[in-house]
Amino acid sequence: MIKGKLLVFSAPSGSGKTTIVRHLLAQPDLNLEFSISCTTREPRGEEVHGKDYYFISWDEFKKHIKAEDFVEWEEVYTDNFYGTLKAEVERIWALGKHVIFDIDVAGGLRIKSKFPNETLAVFVKPPSVDELKRRLKQRSTESEDKINMRIAKASVELATAPQFDTIIKNYDLDVAKEDAYKLVKDFINKD
Ligand code: 5GP
Repeated sequence: MIKGKLLVFSAPSGSGKTTIVRHLLAQPDLNLEFSISCTTREPRGEEVHGKDYYFISWDEFKKHIKAEDFVEWEEVYTDNFYGTLKAEVERIWALGKHVIFDIDVAGGLRIKSKFPNETLAVFVKPPSVDELKRRLKQRSTESEDKINMRIAKASVELATAPQFDTIIKNYDLDVAKEDAYKLVKDFINKD
């Protein structure tokens, strides 16, 4: 494989997209590798540098912007920057694998517009904003303020769903995982 495919999973925080992405990564037949993003936010819980994210300073992040190293980047939340390095996509393609992204909706749509033929852009839809709130509180890795910031953003993000190639409803996690598996399998087997 010279160039693999790009599988983008985007959704409001708390929609379950990370769980779905992890499930797909655990399926060896899909031959996927996770795109590790750069972020300026602090590590949470058990997160590891170089596995979950490349945790970098704002100065380093700025240098990457200036050098045009990013395929896309966003200030996802105030003062919290996230971006995908071109080198990350190239690293994964060089392994002969497909790239799977867990990124916000704006970043997801940008990847799709840069690589329209190679990308499947999937929107993961939560049952409701109330359910999102419940999941974020249950996760309890963030302060009340940060949770409220994520919820405020969710309504704006939900409105972008029709711009994606496809929508997966995450009302029942097992069903959503199976739907995601079938979608990805079909897409990577296409020509
Ligand atoms: P978290 O702080 O919960 O890990 O991520 C916050 C949001 O940023 C999530 O929606 C996550 O998918 C998104 N995100 C992670 N990496 C990137 C990236 O490289 N680019 C963009 N645009 N969003 C990202």
